[in-house]
Amino acid sequence: MALVQIVEPDRQPDPSQPRLAVGIDLGTTNSLVATVRDGQPTPLADAAGRFALASAVRYQKCGGVSVGRDAKQCASCDPFNCILSVKRLIGRGVDDVRQLGQQMPYRFRTGDSKMPMIETVQGAKSPVEVSAEILKVLRERGEQALGGELFGAVITVPAYFDDAQRQATKDAAKLAGIRVLRLLNEPTAAAVAYGLDRQAEGVIVVYDLGGGTFDVSILRLTRGVFEVLSTGGDSALGGDDLDHAVADWIVEQSGCGTDLSPAQQRTLLRVACDLKEALSGQTVVEAHYGDWSGELTRAAFDALIEPLVARSLRACRRAVRDAGIEKEDISAVVMVGGSTRVPLVREHVAAQFECQPLTDIDPDKVVALGAAIQADILAGNRSGNTDLLLLDVNPLSLGLETMGELVEKIIPRNTTIPVSRTQDFTTARDGQTAMALHVVQGERELVRYCRSLARFELRGIPPMVAGAAKIRVTFQVDADGLLSVSAKETRSGVETHVEVKPSYGLSDEAVSRMLEESLAHAEDDRKARGLREQQVNAERLLETVRVALDADGDLLNSQERAAVDEQLALLREAAAGNDQAAIARQVQKVNQATHEFASRRMDATVRRAFAGRQLDEI
Ligand code: ADP
Ligand code: MG
Repeated sequence: MALVQIVEPDRQPDPSQPRLAVGIDLGTTNSLVATVRDGQPTPLADAAGRFALASAVRYQKCGGVSVGRDAKQCASCDPFNCILSVKRLIGRGVDDVRQLGQQMPYRFRTGDSKMPMIETVQGAKSPVEVSAEILKVLRERGEQALGGELFGAVITVPAYFDDAQRQATKDAAKLAGIRVLRLLNEPTAAAVAYGLDRQAEGVIVVYDLGGGTFDVSILRLTRGVFEVLSTGGDSALGGDDLDHAVADWIVEQSGCGTDLSPAQQRTLLRVACDLKEALSGQTVVEAHYGDWSGELTRAAFDALIEPLVARSLRACRRAVRDAGIEKEDISAVVMVGGSTRVPLVREHVAAQFECQPLTDIDPDKVVALGAAIQADILAGNRSGNTDLLLLDVNPLSLGLETMGELVEKIIPRNTTIPVSRTQDFTTARDGQTAMALHVVQGERELVRYCRSLARFELRGIPPMVAGAAKIRVTFQVDADGLLSVSAKETRSGVETHVEVKPSYGLSDEAVSRMLEESLAHAEDDRKARGLREQQVNAERLLETVRVALDADGDLLNSQERAAVDEQLALLREAAAGNDQAAIARQVQKVNQATHEFASRRMDATVRRAFAGRQLDEI
């Protein structure tokens, strides 16, 4: 994630006519829209004066769609038609969704693509469509407040969102009639809201505890450039878990039993949530549930939630370790998400990082406010040296499969985007006229442990000997984190191109698991890579000798031929095993055994060339 100064040529601000631009925080629990007014980022409220729009969509039998609080409140009476936390589904595949299991109590159906569809009373809806309903409401709110059609919006996404999730978010915006000026990582937006981009340098921790998810991001700022050092978190930890802890306490205290209907369960959770939120401002609250009433002190509440807060701190320590920094390097900790209002959370975070976290800006608005600032800049409403454009980094390495199922990394993880990288490849076989390119994402050395993003073919390569063709492959990641790949054979100019739009995404656990595995398996991978390389070497040699024997086998007598064949058979055998050193030794032996044959071939070739010239001369 980086902030880099770029001048955008086509953005000529007309000071008399600011373009209407908004920042949108499309959250799992709540969404927000904000804009810059008179130079100040400001959140926009609905008619009732509420800023947060519950990220809930209800498809009604009558054909209407309601979004927000009303939809959320119907979740217990109409569970299949009230979609909550759709952000957990966007850009994900059917398999990812199955893993979410209980958290997503909807009826899924697989559509034409691998996108899961949610069965509702109004038919099957994709997560993109559901998200678009939320965005539509925010767009209308923005247009009403600003008095005109929007020029565009900056929409925030979690830093770990992959290509598919980002693309799906953009699609949702398009469906909602919003022009996306840029997708922006949530932690970067929070840092911008605090003006940290104007700070000289330092390491910034963004601690984001929302309704259902916890994210921690570690950013480094150097000379106006932010980069993500690491991300971490827990996609099943948030304010909802604090609610459950309080609800369990109520059940225990009141003895009301655990056999609750879904409606009773919802009421209980609402009571619990209200108590929790009240305790952020008071040290004791009156609790009422059914006939029972009691008192919950902050100290008792703290004891209930302590293990949950501790879990978030463990993820923080892991992220610090992953970032390769020391605690002393950290210059600021930014608090994001409604749940960071809980005093115990603030205390523990302060103790963990040994510094006072930044909490001045409302933690549930800070992301939208940062996005609004960015939108204002991108819409061209600011002139002069404040024209900072944000750049991000790609969260996982992108590469190509090469011979032996190995991954050649083209763009390493945490490279600042947009970025374009080029690498040359060549053909492995004589006369090869097509080349299959397999684009993968991940940190491991072997293809099978990485995620496959796309496959495509470069055809029409003129036949040449192995190694003569020069295939230039370019990976390009745009500012929104979307990848396109092109391949060109530079002698003939044959070219091909793909936009990589995977049909489903990776979960954040999958990302951190892949990173962890790559660290855990670094040694294994290095060995496996060495073995593969040696095997590829052996296969190449076998192929070369085979071609040569086919062409010029008559240069050897039957005894000599048998000796060569024997060594070849031994090499074939060694290559099938997994003793790297044995393969290397046998490669040597084959080279020795074919040495004489190779020099005779050379002579023969020279003679033929000579003979040819004589013929020409005649
Ligand atoms: P998300 O980013 O997941 O959409 P938010 O940042 O809006 O979520 O946070 C929502 C969570 O914040 C909810 O669990 C809500 O109960 C909690 N929350 C909001 N206000 C308070 C408060 N005063 N004290 C404690 N928790 C709060
Ligand atoms: Mg949030």
